[in-house]
Amino acid sequence: MKVLSASLRLCGFILLAGISILAQVPAPKDTLGFTPGDDRKLASWASIVDYFKKLDAASDRVMFEEIGKTTMGAPFVYATISSPENLKRLEKYKKMNANLADPRAIPTADMSLRDKLATSLIKQSKTIVLITCGIHSDEVGSTLSSMLIAHRLASSNEPDIKKILDNTIILLVPSLNPDGVDIVKNWYDKTLGTPYEGTDPPELYHKYVGHDDNRDWYAFTQVETQLTVDKIHNVWHPQIVHDIHQQGENGSRLFLPPYMQPVEPNVPKQIVEGYTELGNYMATTLRSKGFEGITTDSTYDAWTPARAYSHYHGGVRILSETASAKLATPVNIKLEDLRAGLGYDSKKESPNFGPVWKGGEWHLRDITNYMTTAAFALLA
Ligand SMILES: [Zn+2]
Repeated sequence: MKVLSASLRLCGFILLAGISILAQVPAPKDTLGFTPGDDRKLASWASIVDYFKKLDAASDRVMFEEIGKTTMGAPFVYATISSPENLKRLEKYKKMNANLADPRAIPTADMSLRDKLATSLIKQSKTIVLITCGIHSDEVGSTLSSMLIAHRLASSNEPDIKKILDNTIILLVPSLNPDGVDIVKNWYDKTLGTPYEGTDPPELYHKYVGHDDNRDWYAFTQVETQLTVDKIHNVWHPQIVHDIHQQGENGSRLFLPPYMQPVEPNVPKQIVEGYTELGNYMATTLRSKGFEGITTDSTYDAWTPARAYSHYHGGVRILSETASAKLATPVNIKLEDLRAGLGYDSKKESPNFGPVWKGGEWHLRDITNYMTTAAFALLA
């Protein structure tokens, strides 16, 4: 009995110790004062950076770093998230992936030997997934979701999350245009409660290129593009890039790949197969969880290389587009106001659309729910 009670006490201590360790991983609310996705709440860039710094300090699954300055001098940052064991061996995995990305790095004239070496590297290495948020700053959900995604990865001990951390190295960019985070937030806060609440700011949300910051990915004229390509893409060669966007209010609730035709002829067929398989898998997963209004193979093609850098550099690009609200202000959409898009009709179930979302209130929380669920469906 004594032994039993001692061991129970010991178990209790371990349990309590475990809980206290988990409790030390801060939730976004601890820093922001609200949970990302709450109505009428946007976060400043400084508070987002502050949150990620706290996460880095509290969790051995998160490394956070500044890799340069934005056009207007803000810190440009990203987080690397994986199991503590993987994070200790980052340089090794980086090298392995660089060797896989460039066949010249495995120096042998014997093709079968080269294939064997490549297969062995694939077995030993980890999947590198780059998640990019907020290239369009008025699509506010993704930057907010980045903190929810990071927090769950840093704090959860669910078997599914542990598996993701063991198998994957996640590179998470909270915003590809940090300057725009504050431009949009400042305008939103200023106009809150006025007739202009939820409108776009009157100024460009990127100093030089505004919304066209996503069309810079073959010209590389902007410092934010250069930092992402030079210091993340070309260092890590991610096999999967999940670029999280928002679309209009009245179409599908969520677009996922495959892209509709045309596909630019220089995109390798393996890449097309990759985004088709992954996108369909994500859509199936979300539908099985009760998410509605999902379309694939519609709306967005794979013709322009302007944003699809990874399609020409050995990586699959998963573009996700969730329906918007009015920035952080909810909207009410009637079924009859839902409109057809390219390749689907929002009011009619079809092989590449459904189940139908029947309208109603659409909150920022719906946006972050779609985004975070899609992100974890891809990682799982
Ligand atoms: Zn966008």
